[in-house]
Amino acid sequence: MAPSKFDLSGKTALVTGGNSGIGLGFAEGLAEAGADVCIWGRNADKNQQATSHLSQHGTRIVAMQCDVGDEQQVEACFAKTVETFGAVHTCFANAGVGARGTPFVDMTIEEWRDIFRVNMEGAFFTLRTAARHMIDRGDGGSLIVTSSGTAIFGAQRGEHYAATKSGVIGIVRSLAVELARYGIRANAVIPGWIETPMTERAFGNEKFVQAVLRRVPMRRWGQPADFSALAVYLASDASAYHTGDRFVIDGGYACF
Ligand code: NAP
Repeated sequence: MAPSKFDLSGKTALVTGGNSGIGLGFAEGLAEAGADVCIWGRNADKNQQATSHLSQHGTRIVAMQCDVGDEQQVEACFAKTVETFGAVHTCFANAGVGARGTPFVDMTIEEWRDIFRVNMEGAFFTLRTAARHMIDRGDGGSLIVTSSGTAIFGAQRGEHYAATKSGVIGIVRSLAVELARYGIRANAVIPGWIETPMTERAFGNEKFVQAVLRRVPMRRWGQPADFSALAVYLASDASAYHTGDRFVIDGGYACF
């Protein structure tokens, strides 16, 4: 049988925020397709649980404790990831924190910076260190960042969050041009409303759940598993000519 374009054997992917939610959905697809996967998160217990779960697919899974908002930690963990696996072929800058629902007029600079520190600077540190590594290796690579539907619609009481998620699209589109000469692709994923720990509070509010559903043609909230196959595509040679794009995975919400 001809080898599948989606076979990721021999490839290593890094997924920040890979111990939970959408990141775990990415990691699951990658491991299932044969990739070795390194997941980063701050919480040791969540890292441990995700590692045990992902290991069922038989590839090498390693979790590292890393705060992506800390430049030194990102540099050190990336070096450790390369030392452990030999290379990073695909990097998902997915770790993120959500808004707390503070009205804009009451928002403090501390709260603003807390969101920017993880969602924007974390993506910057992660993508920069991965890009340096991929350029040095000279064999191309795939960079992915998790944006959000708030980059399209905005987010009331979440202006800082929407700003970071719009900002990362700007980074990705710039990288797609700047890094194409090295065979490095850069794409963004735009999830709609997905049931994860981040949306636990919203999902617990039945009125809100129904309000969302009225705008989702697929008539359900998204699940982390809805992101697994896209991760495989973006990590595989099947997406060799696909760069600078935004993948909206929202059950049709943005069209309705
Ligand atoms: P989640 O289940 O809460 O996952 C967030 C992940 O980020 C966790 O693995 C968390 O691990 C990690 N993380 C948070 N801060 C971190 C830091 N400073 N350093 C390293 N890791 C950190 O939420 P999710 O919904 O899957 O969110 C994943 C991404 O999707 C985020 O970027 C989010 O903005 C985006 N998104 C989500 C939705 C949605 O509806 N759920 C919609 C659009 C976009 P630790 O706690 O262990 O650090």
